[in-house]
Amino acid sequence: MKIKVIESVLKDNDAVAQTNRSTMNAAGLLSLNITSAPGSGKTMLLEKTITALGPDAPCAVLVGDLQTSRDAQRLAGCGAATVQINTGRGCHLSAAQISAGLGSVDLSQIAYLFIENVGNMVCPAGFDLGEHKRIAMLSVPEGDDKVAKYPTLFQPADLIILNKIDLAELLEFDVEQVRADLARINTRAPLLLLSVRTGEGMEKWFEWLDACRTDTTGRKD
Ligand code: MG
Ligand code: ZN
Repeated sequence: MKIKVIESVLKDNDAVAQTNRSTMNAAGLLSLNITSAPGSGKTMLLEKTITALGPDAPCAVLVGDLQTSRDAQRLAGCGAATVQINTGRGCHLSAAQISAGLGSVDLSQIAYLFIENVGNMVCPAGFDLGEHKRIAMLSVPEGDDKVAKYPTLFQPADLIILNKIDLAELLEFDVEQVRADLARINTRAPLLLLSVRTGEGMEKWFEWLDACRTDTTGRKD
C-alpha cells in the first residue's frame, strides 16, 4: 500500500510540473534545475553566472534549502530576482514549491530561471519540477566514486559538471573513473570539467547555456 501512496505523490507532482513547464514556455525563458550534494558549489556557480550574464540576460533563482535564506541573500546580491524556498524537513524541491515561487517573479523580464535544488544526491532526481534542463554537479572533494554510487542523480541529467577541478591533482581524483562510470550511466549529457572559483573551464559552461537558450526559446541575442 505504501508504494501506491508514493506513486500518487509522484503523479501529482508530474501534473504540476507540466503546468510549470507551460508557464515557463509561455514566458520565453530557459529554466535549469541544478542538483548536487551540499557543498559542490551550486550557489557559487550561480553567483558567477548571474554576474557574468549581466543586465542583458536577467536571471531569477528559486533556491531550496531546509533552513536559512543565506543562499538567496548571496544571489540577490548579484542582481537576480531571488526566491528562497525553505523546505523545513523536506530534502528536495517539489513542483508545487516551484509553482509558488514562479508566482512571485515577473517572468516576462527573465532570460534564465535557475532552480538551485536542496543539496542531496538522492531524491531531487525523482521530482520533475518542469525545468527545461537538468544539471547534475559533482565536485572533486566528494570523490571519484560518486557517479557509480549515486547513478540516479546522473541518469536524468542533460549536463554534468565536475567542479573544483583545480583540486584534482592534490586530491588524487581520477577523472577517467568518472568518465568510465558515465559511459555506463549517461552518454547523452556532456561532461564539463571546471573550477567555478578559479574560472578554469567556465567558457564551456557559458557556451552550453547560450546554446540551450537558443534551442529552447529560439532566441539568438
Ligand atoms: Mg547553495
Ligand atoms: Zn527528498
